[in-house]
Amino acid sequence: MILAADIGGTTCKLGIVDNDLNIIKKWEIVTNTEDNGTHILKNVYDSFVKHLATVNLKIEDCAGVGLGVPGPVDFESGTINGAINLNWHGKINIKSQFEKLSGLPVYVDNDANVATLGEKFKGAGRNEANVVCVTLGTGVGGGAISNHQLVHGATGAAGEFGHITVDTKQRFACNCGKRGCLETVASATGVVNLTYYYYEELQFETVLKDAIQEKSLQAKMVFDAAKDGDEFALYVIKKVAKHLAFAFSIISVMTNPKYIIIGGGVSRAGQFLVDHIETYYKTMTFAPAAESTKIVTATLGNDAGMIGAAGLIKTYVMEGNK
Ligand SMILES: [Zn+2]
Repeated sequence: MILAADIGGTTCKLGIVDNDLNIIKKWEIVTNTEDNGTHILKNVYDSFVKHLATVNLKIEDCAGVGLGVPGPVDFESGTINGAINLNWHGKINIKSQFEKLSGLPVYVDNDANVATLGEKFKGAGRNEANVVCVTLGTGVGGGAISNHQLVHGATGAAGEFGHITVDTKQRFACNCGKRGCLETVASATGVVNLTYYYYEELQFETVLKDAIQEKSLQAKMVFDAAKDGDEFALYVIKKVAKHLAFAFSIISVMTNPKYIIIGGGVSRAGQFLVDHIETYYKTMTFAPAAESTKIVTATLGNDAGMIGAAGLIKTYVMEGNK
């Protein structure tokens, strides 16, 4: 058995998972971010103990604890360098703290990486050795798995696909302090950014006109209008798809993934978005890389992070990869 938690700013998604990463039991607890988030790990541990008892298990029956956290992680030491959503500041060694609490091996990684590992093992990645996940939500996150291993890189920034500069005009500022990032043109916020920009520039007739003028536009409205044949909305979605294809063409020659998995809220646009990305991707990508790569949407939804956190224990403890 493996214990796993996907720790978020509002809730922690917890689970007891078997050695093949099937969920035995899953539940959520509210994240208590008071007192600089110092209660969070203890609350997770206490909840594990309580729920293990309901399935007649003890802590000692478990091979380890995998934790996903919303911030930059030094994977070797299991140290997080701040997590605004958790009210954690500075460097905190989560791995050693939770090992002391539980007496079990603990592995910690950031939420985008564990979600990638979850999709690799049990979702759209079909347990392939080389898989990439790009999460299109409010921002754009991601993770890369090469030869069954998450790629962390020299300082843990590998897989931060949201900050590939794809908009050479660098029209929009990114949260990272740079301009022109994929996140500024392909996240939910990015879709809205581009819609406002092109409406201003082109003054197209569109069903989105009222929402644009009221500044109440949401990404889903643009996708829905495009699917319904609104020419302006379709124009914007093609721009979004082209930026994504450009980023994917770079990713494809880095790790040559079998699957590029699109997750997050924007991925609910589904095959419609995939089809538009593929049109550009095929012409923009080095052919030997493109021919082996499939663009697919994520299948695990909110369970991806928790399953992937358990996947850390499967990979690094049970299968002994270091
Ligand atoms: Zn950025």
